[in-house]
Amino acid sequence: SDGEQKTAILSVYDKTGLLDLAKGLHDRGVKMLASGGTAKMIREANFPVEDVSSITKAPEMLGGRVKTLHPAVHGGILARDLASDTKDLAEHSIDKIDFVICNLYPFSETVARINVTIPEAVEEIDIGGVTLLRAAAKNHSRVTIISDPKDYHDFLTDLEKHGHVSEKSRQMYALKAFEQTADYDTAISDFFRKKYASDGNQQLALRYGANPHQKPATVFMKNSKLPFTVLCGAPGYINLLDALNAWPLVKELSKALNYPAAASFKHVSPAGAAIGVALNEVERKVYMVDDIDGIENSGLAQAYARARGADRMSSFGDMVALSHEVDVPTAKIISREVSDGVIAPKYSAEALEILKKKKGGKYLILQMDPEYEPPTTETRSVYGINLRQHRNDAVISPSDTFNTIITPKESGPLPESALRDLTVATIALKYTQSNSVCYALNGQIIGLGAGQQSRIHCTRLAGDKADNWWMRFHERTLSLKWKKGTKRPSKSNAIDMLCSGSIPESGIERDDFEANFEEGHVPKNFTPQERKAFLGKLSEVAVSSDAFFPFIDNVFRAGRSGAKYVAAPTGSQNDSAVFETAEKLGITFVEQHVRLFHH
Ligand code: 5GP
Repeated sequence: SDGEQKTAILSVYDKTGLLDLAKGLHDRGVKMLASGGTAKMIREANFPVEDVSSITKAPEMLGGRVKTLHPAVHGGILARDLASDTKDLAEHSIDKIDFVICNLYPFSETVARINVTIPEAVEEIDIGGVTLLRAAAKNHSRVTIISDPKDYHDFLTDLEKHGHVSEKSRQMYALKAFEQTADYDTAISDFFRKKYASDGNQQLALRYGANPHQKPATVFMKNSKLPFTVLCGAPGYINLLDALNAWPLVKELSKALNYPAAASFKHVSPAGAAIGVALNEVERKVYMVDDIDGIENSGLAQAYARARGADRMSSFGDMVALSHEVDVPTAKIISREVSDGVIAPKYSAEALEILKKKKGGKYLILQMDPEYEPPTTETRSVYGINLRQHRNDAVISPSDTFNTIITPKESGPLPESALRDLTVATIALKYTQSNSVCYALNGQIIGLGAGQQSRIHCTRLAGDKADNWWMRFHERTLSLKWKKGTKRPSKSNAIDMLCSGSIPESGIERDDFEANFEEGHVPKNFTPQERKAFLGKLSEVAVSSDAFFPFIDNVFRAGRSGAKYVAAPTGSQNDSAVFETAEKLGITFVEQHVRLFHH
């Protein structure tokens, strides 16, 4: 109906540019209908405009709650160019509407005011405007919806040049309108979630974001409850990032290997992760748990002892994840370490009492719903820009993931211990910031390199950590004579200096180091020969990498820390050299088909 007079309906809260628009529509012979305030402004500028009530034959009512909600309006907007629709309109004497110009009551601005009441907010929920936007956007094959004053100019130019609005423009205007109504409803539901469901059920205020000046901060779910409850303490933003990476790690690890599993997280990477393989006497000593009653009967406690014991320096102030109901031995280990919080599916009453006493009653205790399954897509926004992807739901399992043995060529299946340790290392990498390389042994991480931009730096970092871990089993480390009253963190620091070969020689740093030990029992650095001899005894180590090795240096470095099994994706130009190097070093190289970058 290009020749006929076109009709526009205008209903705008933000009246920016309205008169220029009215002039433009008038100049182009467009008939204008408008709601109360909009009509008034146009009329006062002496452009011809009719009130919407002239077609609805009903006054605006309920103090403006009902203005444009009427079949005369929505029939005119929603009608298609179909004979049946045309007949319906004719029967009810309704004219088609071609252009809708609408913007909404400022809900977000209203609720951003301090102390806004619920009734005040409710009055700012635009009903008719949203309906105008949605109806016109739905029928964009015929109708143009202009919802942004910034578009008035182009809209008028289009009309002037072509006498109509192009299909492409109508599509883009419709998309914008749908995005506006979506954002509008999001603002409304955010407001009511905060008012009605912020008791921790669906939304929880966080102390702050990544840093104390990043306020406010919240965690929330849409359409459902949060899958965890806070039993004690108040979670911070990074606590939750840790907990929500550590939890799936232990859940998957436990499922894959059918053992209780534990992880110790710091800054969104594991410092340690393990399954509950029985600890021997030396391990109990190295992990500082030899005095925990009942530990030998608790798989979970042994898993956490291993996870926490892997890299005690990194675990300081950790977020703990535990796959099974927390028992007393596990709670006792946690209770005397410096730790920020724990996430687990359940707590025995006694264990909960122990943990609740920690940190003066402020220890963070989260109870996770073990049945919770996340959706398959995940979205985040960075710098105001949205990123969406399919979640990394790749399953790592000892029976399926490590079957492609590249070298040695006539290799039988891997021993169960190797499959176990490769599984531990690989599942850990799935939840470690990339690049990452992990060394594992005895069902636990022994060295993990996270968040390095170069792979060899990961391999070295993880290897150095594995070496450091192993030096803790050296007789000299095991027989240290601590001065009475030396605290666990000080012991861990001193052990780390000894094991990494960095005992200070003189000065106040030396005095500080010596203060940890009994008179006459300050340990000496290992000589290069002692170190070499002891590190030579580290063997059967399983190494996994979250992506391929670009150079053979990685294989050399892994080999120096006892690597016997290496699993990594392939695809490097140097693949064949990498395989050959593994073969020469007697390392079994397994192709692991799934790349596991994580950020
Ligand atoms: P005006 O200033 O023209 O009186 O009102 C314009 C505002 O009213 C626009 O923000 C528009 O979205 C909104 N609006 C239009 N029709 C209705 C209606 O039927 N009910 C409600 N609550 N708001 C409407």
